[in-house]
Amino acid sequence: MANPVETDTVVVGLGAMGAQTLWRLARQGVDAVGVERFAPGHDRGSSHGESRIIRTAYLEGEEYVPFVRAAWRAWAELEEASGERLVHRTGALMLGAPDSAAVAGSLAAAARHGLAVEHLSGAGLAERFPQHAVRPGEEGVFEEEGGAVLPEAAILAAVRLARAHGARVMTGTAVTRIEPDPDRPRVFAGDTEIRARRVVVTAGAWLPTLLPSLAGLGGGIRVERRVLGWFRLTGDAPPHAAGPVFARDEPDGTLWYGFPSLDGRTVKIGVHAEAPGAPHRPGSQWGEPVDPDAGPRAPDADDARRLGELTAGLRGVEPLPERMAACMYTMTSDEHFVIGRHRDLPGLVVAGGFSGHGYKFASAVGTALADLARDGATAVPVSMFDPHRWDTGRP
Ligand SMILES: Cc1cc2nc3c(=O)[nH]c(=O)nc-3n(C[C@H](O)[C@H](O)[C@H](O)COP(=O)(O)OP(=O)(O)OC[C@H]3O[C@@H](n4cnc5c(N)ncnc54)[C@H](O)[C@@H]3O)c2cc1C
Repeated sequence: MANPVETDTVVVGLGAMGAQTLWRLARQGVDAVGVERFAPGHDRGSSHGESRIIRTAYLEGEEYVPFVRAAWRAWAELEEASGERLVHRTGALMLGAPDSAAVAGSLAAAARHGLAVEHLSGAGLAERFPQHAVRPGEEGVFEEEGGAVLPEAAILAAVRLARAHGARVMTGTAVTRIEPDPDRPRVFAGDTEIRARRVVVTAGAWLPTLLPSLAGLGGGIRVERRVLGWFRLTGDAPPHAAGPVFARDEPDGTLWYGFPSLDGRTVKIGVHAEAPGAPHRPGSQWGEPVDPDAGPRAPDADDARRLGELTAGLRGVEPLPERMAACMYTMTSDEHFVIGRHRDLPGLVVAGGFSGHGYKFASAVGTALADLARDGATAVPVSMFDPHRWDTGRP
């Protein structure tokens, strides 16, 4: 083991959340070290595939709205600091039956927070968004304040800025052990021991194995496989490039989503899950458990066929994808995140269990984690993600 490295804060895992945390810390003049087992922007975790949806009228719960608003502000700060466009402001369209989570949940969040949304009938949808093949009984909710975040580009920008502000970055180095301690936690990274005042753990799908005491939170954190597919536009495609990001609630409970064509050639779609509140189908294609060290199973012909079936809901795209990618969701039992200090892990701040909807918040999570590491408190509204919420009877 090389001589111990001394620092103020170590960030373990430079994916969506860790990269932005490291940048925030370094920007505030905090001496910080970031450790990443692969190279930032890699495709072996949860943050690859070129785009992530951001939307404000939050169907997963109106209580997220202040957090999304904080995220929009923090994304703008990262864009300004980096000089890069990291968010495409396309608007967001939710489609489904009137009582579906996509439609009813979005409308409820909008009403509670006074958000500007348009509630569209089936006929209105068909006229306004001809790229969607609208089925009888479907309605839509459109909001301007939605779009696509560029996940790999944002990670690379945040790490670059963190370095420019003096952060030390260790890549290709896995943290093998963390020893919590209220005064000086210790992190073992490759052949280096790092001693710090605080450790921020943002290890994504590896969080439950790196900190086994978190694996059972609220009944368990599960790592699951998801597949993304890129479908080529046909010659007579309606205006996919100009359209909004979308999510669509099917009558059988499948919630899938997609993006306008960001490359002018393809649209990307993916399946999130059964609708919030509906039971997951363990062992189904979209809920297959994954060992993060082995990684998710590579996409196959069956994935192509299953994704292709969903494109019946789109006009002007080929029925089979030209390429696919597999990615990992890290699911908590209530599908809400885990962010905060854990009372059994002195000196550690943790964030994980982003349950397939965390990327849009990465900018504000970075602010919150940097605050928690530095001051022990944050004004970013993350208290609902307290790791101890299951102990206090919260569902
Ligand atoms: C297919 C797919 C689609 C999604 N769509 C959306 C969407 O549209 N909108 C949205 O908001 N969210 C979406 N999400 C969810 C979002 O992408 C995740 O919530 C988010 O990326 C999780 O970020 P993270 O930092 O926790 O994990 P990651 O970005 O995976 O970061 C964890 C990092 O820790 C590193 N690491 C792990 N262990 C160690 C170790 N021991 N030592 C050093 N480094 C380590 C990993 O290599 C990795 O880089 C989607 C996710 C997937 C998979």
